[in-house]
Amino acid sequence: MRLGIRGRLFLVSVALILAVASTSAVYLEFELRRWFEGRLEDELLAHATASLPAVESTADVGDFDRLADRLGAATDARITLIAADGRVLGDSAVAHADLPGLDDHGDRPEVIAALARGRGLSRRASTTLGTDMLYVAVPFTHPTRAGVLRAATPLAAADGTVSRMRFLVMVGSALGLIVATIMSLFASDLLSRRLRALLDRARAMADGHAVPELPGKGDEIAGLDRSLRRLDDALEDVVGTLARERDRSEAVLEGMEEAVVAVDGHKQVTLVNRAALALLDTEASPIGRPFTEVVQNARIRAALDRALAGEPRTLQIDMTRAGETRHLLVRVTPQRAGEGGVVVLHDVTRLRRLETMRRDFVANVSHELRTPVSVIRLNAETLRDGAMHDPKNGPRFVEALLRNAERLSDLISDLLDISRIESGQYPVHTETVRLGALAARVVASVYQLAHERGTGLEVHIDDALEARADPKALDQVLVNLVQNAVKYSPPGSHVEVRAEAIDGPDPRVRLEVRDDGPGIPAEHRARIFERFYRVDAGRSKHMGGTGLGLSIVKHLVSNMGGAVGVGENTPKGAVFWVELPGLEGQGLEAQRLEGQRPAS
Ligand code: ADP
Repeated sequence: MRLGIRGRLFLVSVALILAVASTSAVYLEFELRRWFEGRLEDELLAHATASLPAVESTADVGDFDRLADRLGAATDARITLIAADGRVLGDSAVAHADLPGLDDHGDRPEVIAALARGRGLSRRASTTLGTDMLYVAVPFTHPTRAGVLRAATPLAAADGTVSRMRFLVMVGSALGLIVATIMSLFASDLLSRRLRALLDRARAMADGHAVPELPGKGDEIAGLDRSLRRLDDALEDVVGTLARERDRSEAVLEGMEEAVVAVDGHKQVTLVNRAALALLDTEASPIGRPFTEVVQNARIRAALDRALAGEPRTLQIDMTRAGETRHLLVRVTPQRAGEGGVVVLHDVTRLRRLETMRRDFVANVSHELRTPVSVIRLNAETLRDGAMHDPKNGPRFVEALLRNAERLSDLISDLLDISRIESGQYPVHTETVRLGALAARVVASVYQLAHERGTGLEVHIDDALEARADPKALDQVLVNLVQNAVKYSPPGSHVEVRAEAIDGPDPRVRLEVRDDGPGIPAEHRARIFERFYRVDAGRSKHMGGTGLGLSIVKHLVSNMGGAVGVGENTPKGAVFWVELPGLEGQGLEAQRLEGQRPAS
């Protein structure tokens, strides 16, 4: 049985009371018995001494026994008169007739002591009476004989008093025990109530509730309560700091582009971040699952095994998922000995692609530059070597020189544009632009070229139609598209610039440049906006093209928040379209005007 604090306190106090009561009973009994026997001794001595004159003055020695009886009756003690030789002369407790049968009393210790030192005392069982007796002996001198007067009384009287006293002590102790029990119950109840209150508060603190101060300042329990509160505050601080740390780490992990997977010593996944979930493409949460179930790649698994043995590894792997290959840089690091490891997967597919693009770009630029530069060089050399003075061919070479220098200049200017746009040095500032007026300016700037090629140019744009765009950038976009349409369509073709508003939650404006030239074959359409991509490289170069125009168009349009694409015109030709952010309600307005227009 488990005892509560109240039960234990109660038991302790009962044990304490019993111990005190029994110790004091034993001590009291001992003291009382000593005191009582002392008193009996004194009393016996007084009786004996007081009886001496009667003994010493008695006339008839043969009367000693009667004298002893008288004295015994007067003193309420057993009086024995013993001759110096040990013979009993008289005894109040023994009949006269029996005296001769008594043994020699000369060897009794009190008799020996009385004769030797004038007083004798002894406590022992009486051989005559067979009970415990207290003996006091004093010597007497009678004219006829000397002897010892002995007074004795049974110790049973003392025993009776002592046992009565013991009984009283026990009754007192029992009463004390009852009182003390009640009081200890009160005291322990009081204490345990405060302890229980303290326990309740500790539980509330553990559950994270705020608790007021325990009433009753000053005692140890209140002190314990204060310590608990301080502990609780300190714990709260520590927990708060840990939580902040954890939140920070989580934010860092979640914000990381790299996928992170941590495992414990048994290779069970303990942590994954968002990037890892996306990369591993798992449906269920991988936490708690074996790493081998979550990551199938054998090289990563092997690297983790090495890392768990304390050896960090870095490896590059290709992972194909849903037909797409991703290049991953994987770093596997062990945690502290035996505590697991961390796998960090960095998707470098984009980096690799950019690297390839950069390499291709450099190669393309060099290639593009090489032709005009070598033509210029060749022509300059030919001129120097005499053609300069050839009135027929000289001007032809100079003309070729000029054309290639212009081509070079166009190329450099387009490259600079691309580089400025890509490095963010071509900031676009969108404003509301009237498209009709802008298209008219563009067409005017291309008019000369169109006129030379006999190409018809038309603009079909509502005067009021507006878009959100950077006028300079949009101008460049349209010039490129219209120039291309004129350049790549055969002489005598027809080019149209149109625009319309598209209503909806995200209003847009769609601009189209339509021509009836050769068009863009379907297989080239996806790549036509790439740098240096040409459908017909010979024709492009012949027309002075750099292969960068559409790439610049795409960049500018996307910087203005728009989109660009190419489609097919009917019955033939290309439709290059640009969609830009529009203004609300323009589409409805256009429809209304359309409805009001008289049928022709
Ligand atoms: P370029 O400087 O060669 O014109 P662009 O980037 O402007 O470079 O155009 C890329 C290629 O797209 C051109 O070389 C040409 O083959 C093709 N192209 C562009 N516009 C048209 C068009 N309207 N009709 C037919 N082909 C076109």
